[in-house]
Amino acid sequence: MSDSTLGVTTTSIEQARLRELEALKLLGTQAEQRFDRLTRLIADVLEVPICLVSLLDAEQVWVKSAFGMPAGTSHRRDTFLCHVTLYQGQGQLLMVEDATQEVELADNPLVSGAEGIRFYAGLALFGPGGLPVGTLCVMDTVPRTLCEAGIRRLRAFGQQVEHEITITERLRGASDDLLDQAFYDPDSSLPKKLLGQEQLQRLVDAAQAEGRKGALAAVHFLHFDEFHTTYGREALSEAIWLFAERLRRLAGPGGLVSRPERDRMMVARADFLTMEEAGQWAQRVHEDVTVPYSVGEGHRSALVAIGVCEFAGDVASAHELIRRANLAKEGSLGPGLRRYDTSLEQQVRRRDQVSRALLKALENNDLMLHYQPILSGRSGRVVACEALARWHSEEFGFVSPGEFIPLTEESPQLCRTFTRWVLSQACRAALEWNLGMPSPVAVTINIAGSEFYRQGFVADVEEALMATGLARDLLIIEVTEQTLIQQIDDAVGTLHQLRWRGIRCALDDFGTGYSSLSYLRQMPLDILKIDRSFLDNLAVDQTAQEVTRGIANIGKVLKMDVVAEGIETLEQQSVLCGLGIEHMQGFLWHRPMPLDVLQQALKAAMSDKGQGAIRCPDSSVTDGSP
Ligand code: C2E
Ligand code: MG
Ligand code: MG
Repeated sequence: MSDSTLGVTTTSIEQARLRELEALKLLGTQAEQRFDRLTRLIADVLEVPICLVSLLDAEQVWVKSAFGMPAGTSHRRDTFLCHVTLYQGQGQLLMVEDATQEVELADNPLVSGAEGIRFYAGLALFGPGGLPVGTLCVMDTVPRTLCEAGIRRLRAFGQQVEHEITITERLRGASDDLLDQAFYDPDSSLPKKLLGQEQLQRLVDAAQAEGRKGALAAVHFLHFDEFHTTYGREALSEAIWLFAERLRRLAGPGGLVSRPERDRMMVARADFLTMEEAGQWAQRVHEDVTVPYSVGEGHRSALVAIGVCEFAGDVASAHELIRRANLAKEGSLGPGLRRYDTSLEQQVRRRDQVSRALLKALENNDLMLHYQPILSGRSGRVVACEALARWHSEEFGFVSPGEFIPLTEESPQLCRTFTRWVLSQACRAALEWNLGMPSPVAVTINIAGSEFYRQGFVADVEEALMATGLARDLLIIEVTEQTLIQQIDDAVGTLHQLRWRGIRCALDDFGTGYSSLSYLRQMPLDILKIDRSFLDNLAVDQTAQEVTRGIANIGKVLKMDVVAEGIETLEQQSVLCGLGIEHMQGFLWHRPMPLDVLQQALKAAMSDKGQGAIRCPDSSVTDGSP
């Protein structure tokens, strides 16, 4: 026996062995019952007082489990035979029947000292990569030997210990994967919410200690789901990676980027000398993020809302910073950058108060519906009226639908109560205004996205029709393009259910979402409502006219009626008539009005025999009712 094997430590095999040992992550770990049970069992079966499982790194022997001896570490130079056993080869047993008889061992402290070791039998333990990582040995204080059966058993136990080591590695690998999944986003490799917050806290603490200024930008990718639906998973992953890269560059080596939610990323940096610098950096975040990018085919620009919170020593908590940046982002109401300021806190307070008041208003029946006529371009006849919710609150005065409708959508229960209320009010009103009318006037009702996709929504519509007795062909459901694109398959299902029941559907605010002919073709829709924003420069803008003509043609091809909403001027009316738009709605003729006023207006129009203000000079315009 010689110590020459120690020379192997410098070879590449030894380096590979050490890497394998390192990967096991067993060094320095706590005692484990499953190893301790095995060492006790081995000692018991082989009738020896001592059994050890040891791991050997470049410097030390780590006793992972010891029976009959204290566990611990010692320098590999000072240990008994472990390093020799290590290089014995798989299944090779090293046995010393009486150590006092071996010249090289007689002076070993374990032999000559209090432990008085005389007998040793050990074999190398191999890791999952096939390299030796440690040893299993039994010892006795009296000279002895192991019979053939004993040797076989020790080898079998060796395999059992190797098995436990491999399981440890696999378990650890699996738990590392789980940890990775829990803390890191696989698409961008960015930290997720919790880890991001922890890292931000460290950034804030360091900035505070060094008297530096910083900024946190919360980036919200608008139309994230629409992008996914339209361009698919692969393009989405590519885009996520691309934006993560842009933000990583902006964060620099000392900054941080995280992805707390699917459609949100955070980027922070805290190495600025002045607040102005921090502000300029935030501006650059906005500029860089909105630079057009190409994913798949073609160039696109990201639609993002960014909330920014700059900080000096005054804000100490990452949590508070994130709250402020998010608040600023929500305050931006659409794309763009908004900085946090204290006035935002007031807005949020108002939203809470208005929300509570709205709940009460619904309970007390304090909301109202107004109705705005939609006219036929050819006959001037009112063909339908759109129901629009109105709320005059005792506490807040007139609250616009733009403010309170989104609040109804924050709670599913509230949203359903509100929708059922609108359905029943509007159907009853339509029944009333149609009494004595020579030709029917339908009612159109706006439906929020969350309601449209709710199971039981169609049943609620049915119930309102049954309860009021309104003819089903007098009810039109309006949903926005943004709503329909969210879950196209479900949308098609609901639209079919409504159509089978004889209820028509309109696509509201057409042109504001991801308009795509391919999805429009799948939708059983009856009416397209061109968004008001198209009319802004219609009278003078040739391009706007061409786009509107295109929409009118789409309507024709897909056999949908087209309505232009928000018409305020005679010029707009005449251009729209010229473009072949069939139906119109706008302040030019009527503002939304209460039911009693509407009824008077309808009567007046009737006595006018349809000779109202609206009249398209272009006789090519058809007179189909929407
Ligand atoms: P919308 O469904 O697109 O309704 C048309 C909006 O344009 C109405 O605003 C209407 O008053 C306004 N409008 C009509 N003609 C003109 C015009 O010539 N000029 C201008 N400047 N505006 C015009 P309103 O009533 O403020 O409603 C805003 C939005 O709130 C509606 O847009 C709709 O999305 C939502 N909304 C209103 N009532 C309800 C409701 O009962 N349920 C749901 N879910 N949403 C509703
Ligand atoms: Mg509408
Ligand atoms: Mg609209």
